[in-house]
Amino acid sequence: MIPFSPPRIDGKTIEEVTKALLSGWITTGPRTKEFEKRLAAYCHIDHVLCVNSASAGLELALRWFGVGRGDEVILPAYTYAATANVVIHCGATPVFADCNKDDFNIDTEAVRKAITPRTKVIMPVDMGGFPCDYDSIHALINEKEIQNLFSPATETQRRLNRILILSDAAHSFGASYKGKKTGSLTDISVFSFHAVKNLTTAEGGALCLHLPADFDNEAVYRELCIKSLHGQTKDAFSKMQIGGWQYDIVEPGYKCNMTDIQAAIGLVELSRYDKDMLVKRKYIFDEYSKAFSEETWAEIPPYQTEDKISSHHVYMLRIKNITEEQRNAIIQAIFNKEVAVNVHFIPLPKMSYYQSRGYRMEDYPVAYAHFSREISLPVYYDLSEDDIRTVIQAVKSAVREVLHPTD
Ligand SMILES: *Cc1c(COP(=O)(O)O)cnc(C)c1O
Repeated sequence: MIPFSPPRIDGKTIEEVTKALLSGWITTGPRTKEFEKRLAAYCHIDHVLCVNSASAGLELALRWFGVGRGDEVILPAYTYAATANVVIHCGATPVFADCNKDDFNIDTEAVRKAITPRTKVIMPVDMGGFPCDYDSIHALINEKEIQNLFSPATETQRRLNRILILSDAAHSFGASYKGKKTGSLTDISVFSFHAVKNLTTAEGGALCLHLPADFDNEAVYRELCIKSLHGQTKDAFSKMQIGGWQYDIVEPGYKCNMTDIQAAIGLVELSRYDKDMLVKRKYIFDEYSKAFSEETWAEIPPYQTEDKISSHHVYMLRIKNITEEQRNAIIQAIFNKEVAVNVHFIPLPKMSYYQSRGYRMEDYPVAYAHFSREISLPVYYDLSEDDIRTVIQAVKSAVREVLHPTD
């Protein structure tokens, strides 16, 4: 069986994790701080905070901005549950927007229609690693009329005085938009280092701070460090230094710090990310695209345009003119050929919890049209040349079997 997305764990990873384990310091400490610095340098920003998941990072950012009851947060209907669940955790209301026709990202015009005086945040998601249309999103929130609708309720909201752009960049570490890396494209961006993501720490995430000039990003970084550790003014590593035992609790904070064991994996991943991991991922994407562009039924996902370069996270193939049932049959036929594929994602309005809150799939026809025809193919570092050919053949024959059973 060709798996969908196993992590790349080799001698180097094991060696660095072992060093961390034997160093006498396994929770947040020097390795996490080093990882934060290197991530910031990679994204060309000054401040990155590592946390234990992207979900925690997104929630921390929403809470920092004071999002709560009565507020609305606009996000795509087409995303993983984490993006919307964290909004619910804060007591606010997720407002879904439909997708672009050509890619899987949020449609700026759909966002415009969803904005109300209660809108506090927009959370674009770089689906599959392909950056959203950030210029048009920024132009939208800076329009005078949209800005005038914004009704700040906290000091932080008053300081920004417009809708916050919090990008869910769970898929897009290493991607770029108009020559700038994700992490530096919006006010705050959050990466995921979950096991299946491009760069992993087993579980983990990072918050990238790129707030406008009225904010002191360094001060926000310190504030978020405290928020991510029970509102405690010193982390365990600083407390351990000579005479450093005193601390205060300034708020009932959360517990979502990254450990040095996680950071040890991340540092290895980052050190070979551009010249090794991304090169391989792009190669696999290109091989798939070459092979499927020969087929009239295939719709190749966009991943490189004049303005955007994807992180090549998920290869989201679509099959033209098929139903959801036919797509499901094709997936079954691919599995029968010992290849694991996936669907990214089942849109949130199809989920029973979100249905129980009154969201309906019919209201997001583009998201449904994408979802019902989508199949995500295996992309990972250890996928061999033979595996790539096997995946391509499996998909081609599966489509033939389902769509032309008599051939
Ligand atoms: C994986 C993922 C997340 C959550 O990441 P975690 O690190 O697992 O919390 C959020 N959004 C999207 C789109 C994801 O795919």
